[in-house]
Amino acid sequence: MIPYARQSIDDDDVHAVSAVLRSDWLTSGPVGPKFETAVAEYCGVRHAVALSSGTAALHAAMNAIGVGPGDEVVVPTMTFVATANAVIYQGGIPRFVDVSPDTLLIDVEQVESVITPRTRAIVAVDYAGQPCDYPNLRQLASQRGIRLIADSCHALGATLDGQKVGSLADLTVLSFHPVKHIATGEGGMVVTDHSQLAETMRRFRNHGISKDFREREAAGSWEYEMASLGYNYRLSDIQAALGLSQLAKLPGWLTRRRAIASRYGQAIEDMPAVQPIRVKHGVAHAYHLYPVLLDRECHRRSIFSGLRSLGVGTNVHYLPAHMHKFYRERFGTRRGMFIHSEDAYDRLLSLPMFVGLTDRQVDRVIEALDECLPSL
Ligand SMILES: *Cc1c(COP(=O)(O)O)cnc(C)c1O
Repeated sequence: MIPYARQSIDDDDVHAVSAVLRSDWLTSGPVGPKFETAVAEYCGVRHAVALSSGTAALHAAMNAIGVGPGDEVVVPTMTFVATANAVIYQGGIPRFVDVSPDTLLIDVEQVESVITPRTRAIVAVDYAGQPCDYPNLRQLASQRGIRLIADSCHALGATLDGQKVGSLADLTVLSFHPVKHIATGEGGMVVTDHSQLAETMRRFRNHGISKDFREREAAGSWEYEMASLGYNYRLSDIQAALGLSQLAKLPGWLTRRRAIASRYGQAIEDMPAVQPIRVKHGVAHAYHLYPVLLDRECHRRSIFSGLRSLGVGTNVHYLPAHMHKFYRERFGTRRGMFIHSEDAYDRLLSLPMFVGLTDRQVDRVIEALDECLPSL
């Protein structure tokens, strides 16, 4: 069975993790900051704050910009639910908007139309690994005096007009879940140029306490103070060591992901029932996912099962957030509110995309897809 996604782990990764297991610090040791510095340098920003998951990173970002009860945050509905859930963790209200039908990226005009005096921030989601329209989003955010957060959990390593993801918004959130570009098991990060916001997030991930244990030990002091409410959202050194080791391989991995995407792209040109997601000019895509849109006449469920029986795992990203039971019941959202996301949801299928996928396997996926499609 070819899975839709899978991590790549080599001996270097195993050695990096073993070294931490044999060291003095399993968590809050020296490897965490090394990993943070490496990701910050890679993204071309000044600060990186590691957290226990991408979801914790989203929560820390919402907290740092001061989202509180009743505050609204604009979120595209075509995303993983964690993006919107993080707003609710802070007592805020996710204000959903639709995406452009061809890129599935947040529609900037719609964002503008839902901003109110209660709006605190816009969250842009780099769906599948393509950066959103940050120049226009930044302009809009600064005109209205609100924050711009990038949920770039799909887009580590992508660029827009030569600028790296991580440097395009006030705060950029990354995930190191095994299906993402680099894995730490569970893990996430926020990268930013704002020193104050970074400091707030460092405290937030450590119960709201200003000094961690190692800093206190180095200072020869037991004293610490909790000044605000935080959580235990720390990333362990065991995980950071894996992340640091994986990061070294990211450039080559992005090349591989792009090569797979181009092989798929060429093949689906000859499939009238399959439409690619449009990639904008000036984008170097990171291809966390390779979703395609099936023709309306296709019966997706039978294509999904047909592929499965041929040994090809696919997935659907995503059931729009506003269509989940929780959101329907809590916020009264329903089908019909965001037609582009809903139409996409009915037609989306994510083909296998991961670094270890061989050309032969890509060809097997293409052949299997061809076999499962109805002749239109
Ligand atoms: C993966 C992902 C997250 C959450 O990341 P975790 O590390 O799994 O908590 C958030 N947003 C998007 C768009 C994601 O794909």
